[in-house]
Amino acid sequence: MEYLSDRIKSLSVSQTLAMAQKSRELKEKGLDIISLSLGEPDFNTPDYIKEAAKKAIDDNYSKYPPVQGYNDLREAISKKFKEENGINYTPEQIIVSTGGKHSIINVILSIVNPGEEVIILAPYWVSYYDQIKLAGGKPVVVETLLENDFKVMPEQLEVVITRKTRLIIFNSPSNPTGMVYTREEMEEIANVVRKHEGLFIISDEIYEHILFKGEHVSMASFDFIYDRVITVNGVSKGYAMTGWRIGYIGAPVWIAKAVNKLQGQFTSGACSIAQRAALAAIQIKDNSRQMMRDAFLRRRDLICKLLKDVKGLKFRVPQGAFYIMVDISHYLRKTDGVTRIHTSDDLALYLLDKAQVALVGGDAFGAPDYMRISYATSDDLLVEAVKRIKAALEKLK
Ligand code: GLU
Repeated sequence: MEYLSDRIKSLSVSQTLAMAQKSRELKEKGLDIISLSLGEPDFNTPDYIKEAAKKAIDDNYSKYPPVQGYNDLREAISKKFKEENGINYTPEQIIVSTGGKHSIINVILSIVNPGEEVIILAPYWVSYYDQIKLAGGKPVVVETLLENDFKVMPEQLEVVITRKTRLIIFNSPSNPTGMVYTREEMEEIANVVRKHEGLFIISDEIYEHILFKGEHVSMASFDFIYDRVITVNGVSKGYAMTGWRIGYIGAPVWIAKAVNKLQGQFTSGACSIAQRAALAAIQIKDNSRQMMRDAFLRRRDLICKLLKDVKGLKFRVPQGAFYIMVDISHYLRKTDGVTRIHTSDDLALYLLDKAQVALVGGDAFGAPDYMRISYATSDDLLVEAVKRIKAALEKLK
């Protein structure tokens, strides 16, 4: 007899990680799977960062780190915020956590009471929805349209904000759409937040360095809502350090203190060695960040060119991150004579089975007519993957 809590029973499995696990298992069985499911740079962590981690081991960084993160790391992050984002956060306002995902749940748990509402913008990143539910909050989903570049209109926010709305989760460059908001568009959203007392906004900026056009704008750089913004970032995507699990926030002091308290009961702080590696990543500049960004841009152009030749697919050209959200509604309700495709998840499983390409269905992103392709892989694999996808889709009538 199992006695699982209601909390865990109502929690969904992370579909990005589930799909990655499934393709790992199939690969281990010898199948030639191309994985375009998990969003992570395919590059290795740059050498200067790995060296810093090796040195940290030799220097005996083996004791509990401070719960909030090492002082010198938080000072380096404070400098980064000032120089790259134009935001003043003192080290006291910065908390280092076990990945950006952990930073986000920390904030939700710290400021959202059971029954309070949190606005997320569909297509949203999978974990936002379940993290809100886990905290007892109510996810309020606002849909955005491909025709509007998947961007929310300020009026759409105004109609759903109630006295119970505590938080909006905002993400630009966006996972899964790859869209990037302009300064003007962000200012309009900031103005909505300003109008509603007690409303806060998480600005998830984890993809800031993977930007193909324009400038990265930080929500907290709008002075008039500075004290209502929690800026989330980390080293995973920009420095190819997904496995090291280091994320951080810049926030008003009272939120940073709450997160520190929470973390003191949960993790006792982020891994000491990974923190030393993150310090090197942020402090020492080399050209690896630029090199990776240029590779993602080249692949973005490649995948868009390839997908244009596949009948029935619609998409917008991504401006950042390394995802493309593809409208697959043309293939819903079609069959290859054996399997009928009812949902985007059905289509993802069909493609895994028939094309041996792993993708994530749009259902988990609140976008049932779509599927997400992560193109953070080699040019050759992208060409082969789209060739296989095209052949498998052509069989659906
Ligand atoms: N953020 C990445 C993705 O969306 C990594 C997996 C995850 O944490 O969800 O694929």
